Amino acid sequence: MPDLVITNATVWTSPDDEPLPDHAVVVHAGVVERVVPTAALDGAVADLPVWDAVGRVVTAGFWNCHVHLSEPVWRGAGRAPVARLQAALDDMLLSRGFTTAVDLASNSRDTLPLVARIASGELAGPTILSATEAIRPARGLPFYTREEVPWFLWWALPTPWTAAGARRVARRQLRKGARVIKLFTGSYVERDRIKPMGIPHARAAVEVAHEHGVLVFAHTSNREGLQVALDAGVDVIAHVPDETDGTEPLLREAANRGVWLVPTLLMFAETVTTSPAYLDPIDDALRVFRDAGGRVLFGTDVGYLQEYAIDGELAALERCGLDGPAVLRALTTEPAAAFGRPDEGTVAPGMRADLTVLETRASVVRPGDLGRVAAVVKDGRVVLTR
Ligand SMILES: [Zn+2]
Repeated sequence: MPDLVITNATVWTSPDDEPLPDHAVVVHAGVVERVVPTAALDGAVADLPVWDAVGRVVTAGFWNCHVHLSEPVWRGAGRAPVARLQAALDDMLLSRGFTTAVDLASNSRDTLPLVARIASGELAGPTILSATEAIRPARGLPFYTREEVPWFLWWALPTPWTAAGARRVARRQLRKGARVIKLFTGSYVERDRIKPMGIPHARAAVEVAHEHGVLVFAHTSNREGLQVALDAGVDVIAHVPDETDGTEPLLREAANRGVWLVPTLLMFAETVTTSPAYLDPIDDALRVFRDAGGRVLFGTDVGYLQEYAIDGELAALERCGLDGPAVLRALTTEPAAAFGRPDEGTVAPGMRADLTVLETRASVVRPGDLGRVAAVVKDGRVVLTR
């Protein structure tokens, strides 16, 4: 028996298809069973829980491919009350439409118990794929990490001195539960000084991750950090490099090689400066990457960035030439492709019933409409309505 019937919705099955007006989505056991015109629903669904989504758009659940679960609210997540944690997860992620989030480094003593409590069903979601702690160059802790983490805990942060050490660290992170690996191939050790990771170190960590079928994300910062990331064979660039000098050919090479990019444009404006002299070259770098055919994953750096609303990121992406379907791809089909999830990213029979419902009647969906979240369905259950 189906678990849920969503009726009268405009269903955007995939960013590459026209939205279907007045359609119903029938969900059974956490999976989409049928997508049909509401008028074609038969008596078999008459007794089932019906959620009328008239005037709303249903899409596949969104992914945020760059978050950090490092704010004070996550401390002691293994024992914290469900209500407190769920409220925090709702505020930061579910209410923004995210059914999956990629945690690009946090304190694993808090994050891994949180991930386990979500996986067990104690918490409603979203699904979290965590990098646990990031791997940095030797003597390469970013200045903002040194400000956040007390000095007597620095020894516990992975900063391998040798390639063999990088291999050991990557294995340890995966053993304890990392689902992605995060490398600082270019680390802001001071506000104005970037230290690159050694290529053999980065390559060793990438090899270990790939042996385990795990993606590697790199914080590159500048041309040198981007070169290390490409030489090492990382899968995803976690931000547009913000020191853009000399990065153009490398961004084109990344695009040609199928390396994904998470822009995080709003973060630069919110945490560094709103000066156009700083931001315009970053926008241009994203345009270079996109013009070369580069594929984009949506991500905001929320958790480091204090702003939870995604409207600013959506507007920034539109400014750089991404239209509604392009941003929806970055939120749904591209992450599903990057993470090898054939049953995620679109709304169709057999797909996982992670759905994001938007408050819009627009026949042409613009990037800004993707921030107007009305409800979220996680594994076939309505877990949030606004
Ligand atoms: Zn980050």
